[in-house]
Amino acid sequence: MLFASDLDRTLIYSANSMLLAGPDDAAPPMVVAEVYRGAPLSFMTRSAEAMLEDLAQRGQFVPVTTRTREQFERIRLPGRGRGYAISTNGAVLMKDGVPDAAWTASIRSRISRECVPLAEVFEQLTVENPVQGLVRARTAEDTFIYCLVERASLSPEYLADLTDWCGQRGWKVSLQGRKLYCVPVPVSKEAAVAEVRERMGVDTLITAGDSLLDAGMLEVADIAFRPAHGELHATGFERPHLTVTGARGILAGEEMVRSALEYARGSSRVAGHPGSRQG
Ligand SMILES: [Mg+2]
Repeated sequence: MLFASDLDRTLIYSANSMLLAGPDDAAPPMVVAEVYRGAPLSFMTRSAEAMLEDLAQRGQFVPVTTRTREQFERIRLPGRGRGYAISTNGAVLMKDGVPDAAWTASIRSRISRECVPLAEVFEQLTVENPVQGLVRARTAEDTFIYCLVERASLSPEYLADLTDWCGQRGWKVSLQGRKLYCVPVPVSKEAAVAEVRERMGVDTLITAGDSLLDAGMLEVADIAFRPAHGELHATGFERPHLTVTGARGILAGEEMVRSALEYARGSSRVAGHPGSRQG
C-alpha cells in the first residue's frame, strides 16, 4: 500500500487556511511544517505528524506537490529526503532527494510535442488578455505559470474563457486560494504517481488532495480522500472510491492521514467501506 498525498491545504496549512472552529483553548496541538524567511508559515497537527512518521517509516508515504523543488525542500515532513517525492506538479520525481533527470526529460519532450510554449501563455496572461485582479505572475522551474490574484476581481466568465483558451493549447488551469495556476497538460501529479506506483510495485494506491490539480491523482487511486474544503469541494467533486472528510481545514488533514494509516495497519474500516460521503 502507498499513501501519495498533496501537501498544501491537504496535509499542511497556513494560519489563514486552518479553518479552526470552536474556542481557542480547544484547538489541536500543532507543529511547524515550514519556515519561510525566518517565520513559521505552514503547520500540521501534532497527531498528523506522528501518524505520518509511522507511514514514512513503513516506506508508505510519498509527498506530491505543485510546489517547485526549492519550495518543497523548505517543508519538514516525516521521512524527508528518504524514498520518493514528487514536486513541480509531477515534472520532478525525486528518489532519496535526488531528481530523476530521465523523468524530467521525458515530460519536457511531451510538452514540446503537445503544448504551446510557456512564453505564449505567459504573454496571454500578462499582456494580451491579462488576468483580472493580477497582482503578479511567476514561472516555476520554467515549466508552468502561477499568478497571484485578487479573488474578488476574478470573474467566473474570465476563468471559463481562460480555461477554454488554455485547453485548446495543451494547458490546464487551476485556482487555489489567491493563486491561479496554468500548467501544461503532460505535467501531472497522476503521471508521476503512476510512475512511482510501477517502480515500487504498489498493490493498493491511496491518494489525497484538495485541488483540481489533484483530481487525476484521486481518479487513478484505489482509495481516495479529499478534504471538505478547497477547489474540489467547491465543485462538488465525488467518486465512488472517494471519501470526503468530516472535518475541515487542518483537522481534515489529520483525518486523512489517520484513515491512510488505519488502512496501512490492516484496519477494515477504510478498506471495507470506501464509499462517498459528504461532510
Ligand atoms: Mg493542495
